[in-house]
Amino acid sequence: MSDKWKTRTRLVHEGVRRSQYGEVSEPIILTQGFVYETAEQAAARFEAAGEDEFIYARYGNPTVRMFEERIAGLEGTEDAFATASGMAAVHAALASMLRAGDHVVSARALFGSCLYILEEVLTRFGVEVTFVDGTDLDAWAGAIRADTKAVFLESMSNPTLEVIDLPAVADLAHKVGATVVVDNVFSTPVFSRAVDLGADVVVYSATKHIDGQGRVLGGVILGTKEFIRKTVEPFAKHTGCAMSPFTAWVLLKGLETLDLRVRAQAENAIRVAEFLEGHPKVVRAIYPGLKSHPHHAVAARQLEKGGTVVSFDLSGGQAAAFRFLNALEIIIISNNLGDAKSIITHPATTTHQRLTPDQRATLGITEGMVRLSLGIEDADDLIGDIAQALEAV
Ligand SMILES: *Cc1c(COP(=O)(O)O)cnc(C)c1O
Repeated sequence: MSDKWKTRTRLVHEGVRRSQYGEVSEPIILTQGFVYETAEQAAARFEAAGEDEFIYARYGNPTVRMFEERIAGLEGTEDAFATASGMAAVHAALASMLRAGDHVVSARALFGSCLYILEEVLTRFGVEVTFVDGTDLDAWAGAIRADTKAVFLESMSNPTLEVIDLPAVADLAHKVGATVVVDNVFSTPVFSRAVDLGADVVVYSATKHIDGQGRVLGGVILGTKEFIRKTVEPFAKHTGCAMSPFTAWVLLKGLETLDLRVRAQAENAIRVAEFLEGHPKVVRAIYPGLKSHPHHAVAARQLEKGGTVVSFDLSGGQAAAFRFLNALEIIIISNNLGDAKSIITHPATTTHQRLTPDQRATLGITEGMVRLSLGIEDADDLIGDIAQALEAV
């Protein structure tokens, strides 16, 4: 689609492939394979499939292709490969490019499963991984070596919402020719253009904001045509992390309203963060859009808004946090984020339970910390719900 259209237009129209029926809504081509008119056509397609020619759903599918083109248009990358989940995207992005003996530098504050891939899986195949405090540029400079093949980071960490200076880390990495891989979930594709900031490869869990309505698991890897087609595609199509066409259709519908939803969520987030910051029962409110956030300046440079998640610390530890969660009437207790429904999590006992108390302390995850993913509900209702639940603490 033409570059002259703005984001909201592209999110509705980009990548559409209509069948002979001229349907309005994108068709779900729920098929595993494709019929060839002749044996010659089959042979030609296996030799070199054209842009709009498909062979087998593990390799590609028209509905999945629509999703890939639409998200690539939003992110501003040449190409994209859709996967069955966010973790499949992280794994395929890294495993497709790395081999035994390669060196990787990664931020330490990672989503638990990302940490597992870097710490447990890649190392088992002979990849050497060095972990650093992602917000410490000297640590990155000290860890990146002449032979470093890739750096990996989450642009905004979970649940402490530290913001990594992506252009600075990318500069250090590019000096030695390393590939910068960014898990950009918390920044959202709406508020950050990670490739403009120096990322070479961007991965998303589409389960979060892109679906944003709690329905499906999905993921996507974005990058240059060269990287996606020469490195990712051969790995992905032979190892089987393909996205289902049904999932792609749900996510195409999610993309249509992504910009509207995420902006409404961010407006709720700043309102709630400002309310929490002044509250006597809240020790610390963490939101990159607040001036008090330690990386507010970095966040302001690289994110259009502060994101859709607010974390905060309640005095009184786990008992206070549990009382607060249990007293909420609108906000639901769950562990997803980026949803239209506001969702609250107690990281120490759920998403980060696997870590030792020491590891949690290093990451700044206290017993009284809660993570709130803001939905699209009315801000006054949400603040009212939080206020009444804080009374119970
Ligand atoms: C949720 C999440 C993932 C994993 O995505 P799934 O779709 O659940 O596989 C990876 N990274 C981050 C930062 C996430 O929040």
